[in-house]
Amino acid sequence: MTTATLPITTGAEYLESLRDRNLRVFFMGERIAEPVDHPIIRPSINAVARTYDLAVEHPELASAHSSLSGRRVNRFLHITESVEDVVAQNRMQRRLGQLTGTCFQRCVGMDALNSLYSVTHEMGPLYHQRFKDFVIRMHEANYVIGGAMTDPKGDRGKAPAEQADPDLFTRIVERRPDGVVIRGAKMHQTGCLNSHWIVVMPTMRMRPADKDYAVVAAIPVDHPGLTFIYGRQSCDTRAMEGGSIDQGNAQFAGQEAMILIDDVFVPNELIFMDGETDYAAMLVERFTAYHRRSYVCKTGLGDVIIGAAALAADYNGVAAVSHVRDKLVEMAHLNETIYGAGIAASHESKQTAAGNFQPDDLLANVCKHNVTRFPYEIARLAQDLAGGLVATMPSEKDLENNETGPLLRKYLQGRAGVKVEDRMRVMRLIENMTLGRNAVGYLTESMHGAGSPQAQRIQIARQMDLETKKGLAKNLAGIKD
Ligand code: SF4
Ligand code: FE
Repeated sequence: MTTATLPITTGAEYLESLRDRNLRVFFMGERIAEPVDHPIIRPSINAVARTYDLAVEHPELASAHSSLSGRRVNRFLHITESVEDVVAQNRMQRRLGQLTGTCFQRCVGMDALNSLYSVTHEMGPLYHQRFKDFVIRMHEANYVIGGAMTDPKGDRGKAPAEQADPDLFTRIVERRPDGVVIRGAKMHQTGCLNSHWIVVMPTMRMRPADKDYAVVAAIPVDHPGLTFIYGRQSCDTRAMEGGSIDQGNAQFAGQEAMILIDDVFVPNELIFMDGETDYAAMLVERFTAYHRRSYVCKTGLGDVIIGAAALAADYNGVAAVSHVRDKLVEMAHLNETIYGAGIAASHESKQTAAGNFQPDDLLANVCKHNVTRFPYEIARLAQDLAGGLVATMPSEKDLENNETGPLLRKYLQGRAGVKVEDRMRVMRLIENMTLGRNAVGYLTESMHGAGSPQAQRIQIARQMDLETKKGLAKNLAGIKD
């Protein structure tokens, strides 16, 4: 697919746009005929569909007018034109986290577009013009873009060109007059088969010897040279069991898959870096500054889990107990601390030479570093407040069973006036977000997405400017060198 007659506007239209693409998708040892209709994959598609519907419901929040294409586009495709645009991304992300309780997958593409916009400008007019033409093409169809950065990496102690198997970092295997041929793989690719296009990017800084690995290229997701192996997630097969209680969140889930790139030819107009190793680090740094403050998405999930914990306490009859209130306050404090750093990074955005806006790198890294820790503490407190039932409760089928159902309705009662089924639902939602399918998004993705904790510590160390701070101390202490 290269062009669409009309831009995709609603979630339903988006869903239809994903049909009949004949993608090579494998899941649990089988090729999947139509991912859109697969019960385990569908909730991840619903989450992306929500990003379209939100733009219809709240155009000011989730869409923007692009002066690049002259169109009103989904905010996830928008090249930022002001500080307020960067801030609006965070507001939209929090809202979508609240509405879906999971990863809605589109920020990777948004952050790739915005970082590439400024980096291609630094690289020169040829690449920048090509890139702008690509963005305008995406705007015309209002497509979903996936940013594909993380390589398999093989021996972590070795550079791309030093690996025993040269394909462990995605690379150019052939250069032709009209384009390049790419081979390799991308790991942990959020929402990749829910995208229309992916943009492959280098995963880290490169040395001159790694020239063939410094490649940025756009590939349509339905390219026959791409294979997707779908990641399985904790409790994912509950979606195959029918019913809606045991899934915890039956409507929405995230998506992670491996992309295998088997000698894919990319024409020149879709190549935005080809061997310029000097720009790989710049791209990684700008992308991660964008993406690390995008993790305020998790504060939307935090709002859901704080609400679920408060409901569980209420259904258990202990809403007014002081330590329960205090734990909820602690959860809210942690959640807003994440948001505070992320939204501050966006407010401190500076204009790039290309004209778009780039968030503050130090604050973005602090935001993501908070995200590697605080959701775990919030999840711990939610389980504390919910009680052990969160992990020991019988299934929905036992509630429906003629013999066990009446007993469960008797013995799983909480506070008077609360339906047993509702108490079970809120327990399952907490389970879903802390142990089940959406714990992938709320916990592990919080740890490793956009870079593992140590990657942020390195960036914080680079920017903490100890010499200036030592100077401040010397000044007040009266130390003269
Ligand atoms: Fe967006 Fe958050 Fe998912 Fe990343 S983890 S794509 S920032 S929702
Ligand atoms: Fe991510």
